[in-house]
Formats: sequence, structure tokens, C-alpha cells
Amino acid sequence: MQVLNNGSVTLIEHMGGDQAVIRNARRCWRSESKSENADRQLLRHLIKAGHKTPFEAMTFTFDVKTPLFVARQWFRHRMGSFNEESLRYCVALRDYYIPQGLEGSLLEQWNKHNNVAFDFYEELVGQHKIVKEQARSVLPIGIYTNFYWTVNGSSLMNFLHLRLDRHAQYEIRVYAEAILELVKEVAPISFGEFEREVLNIGE
Ligand SMILES: Cc1cc2nc3c(=O)[nH]c(=O)nc-3n(C[C@H](O)[C@H](O)[C@H](O)COP(=O)(O)OP(=O)(O)OC[C@H]3O[C@@H](n4cnc5c(N)ncnc54)[C@H](O)[C@@H]3O)c2cc1C
Repeated sequence: MQVLNNGSVTLIEHMGGDQAVIRNARRCWRSESKSENADRQLLRHLIKAGHKTPFEAMTFTFDVKTPLFVARQWFRHRMGSFNEESLRYCVALRDYYIPQGLEGSLLEQWNKHNNVAFDFYEELVGQHKIVKEQARSVLPIGIYTNFYWTVNGSSLMNFLHLRLDRHAQYEIRVYAEAILELVKEVAPISFGEFEREVLNIGE
């Protein structure tokens, strides 16, 4: 799913879904899945009561492309695993964030500023043989980075709760919105109830 001018988020793999959460939760009562309505009520109860561990039965891996300054906020979420493309080992691509609505001379200056930085970076790496891990210091924090994020359902709900909030920065909020859409397809009851109970959106 495209996010921002050149970013994206893709759900590349997942394990479990609503049924895994229901199964794990019902172990507490030595019961099994009943009607869809009863299961939905159970998940609603878990969310309201903060009984979060059954949601850890779901795991998601996302492929994310986002500006460095967004990744920096994202990586604060410790309950998950990240593997990021390294600018020690890979040459940075000329790919940077442009906020929507920039136009005219401001857009020109924005592009010029970024391109001057990339020209210098490429000169340092190419002509001067400066190691990539040092040369990267001249690049702006709006350049795009790529990482995989593996996270369980409970930690993902914490991320969504914090990053869908209106106080979160717009540029990470739009990723959280895209992720909520993606996981609702995989686990519609869990994330539908989460949306209803925690985010107060929906029915
Ligand atoms: C709007 C907004 C503004 C922010 N501004 C700033 C800022 O100005 N400066 C700044 O530094 N950060 C800032 N943050 C980051 C914030 O402080 C958290 O680091 C970030 O949101 C991750 O949240 P988390 O700890 O709940 O997530 P995770 O790290 O994924 O942790 C999940 C949960 O695990 C538990 N946990 C994890 N580690 C520990 C631990 N060591 N001890 C006890 N419990 C733990 C907690 O219950 C936690 O909620 C901001 C976040 C938001 C959403």
C-alpha cells in the first residue's frame, strides 16, 4: 500500500488470526469456539479488560519503506523486531520525502537541497572513496529507508493506539492507518473490536 510520496507498507507474512486469539483465550475457561457472536463478545471483553496476551497468538511481518525520521519514531516500539537496510553496506538511493502541498519555488528549493546533499554523498563515496558509513552523515533525515517489522497482535495494538492518535505526527499516522486496514483483512474481529473499543471508531 502506498504511503506518502514514495513510501509503502506491505503485509508480507502473518501467523494466526482471530481463531488463534479465540483458541488461546478460551484455554482460560477450558472452552472452545462457539458462535461468531460469542467469540466476538469474548474478544471485546479481552480488549476492554486489557487481557492482552491472547492477541500475541497473531504475528505479522511488514515490509516498510519510510523516511528516516519516521523510522526513528517507529523503532521506539521495543516489543517487535526490526531488520533495516544498512547504509554501512548499501549505497543510499536518491529517494527522499516530499510533503504533499509543496509547490513552486519552495518545492524547487526542497529538491535542490536534497539533490545537493546526494551529489556530495555520491562524490564522497565515488571519487573520494570515503566509507559509506561516514559519507551517509551528509544526507538529510527525510531520505527513505527500508525495514522489515515483525510484531505480535498485542504490541501492534499498542502501536496503533499511540500512532493513530491525533497527537502522533501525520507522517507516522498515515502508516498506522494503512496497517490497520491491512490487519483488519486478516483478523477482522480482533481489529474491528479494537477499533470500536479503543479507537472509538465504527458502529
Ligand atoms: C505522540 C508521541 C510523542 C512522543 N514523543 C516523544 C519524545 O518527545 N521523546 C521521546 O523520547 N519519546 C517520545 N515518544 C515515544 C514514547 O515515549 C514511546 O517510546 C513509544 O511510543 C513506544 O511506546 P511503548 O513503550 O508503549 O512501546 P514498546 O516499546 O513496544 O513497549 C510496549 C509496552 O511494553 C512495556 N515495556 C516495554 N519496555 C519496558 C520497560 N523497559 N519497562 C517497563 N515496561 C516496558 C510497556 O508496557 C509498553 O507500553 C512519543 C510517542 C508518541 C506516541
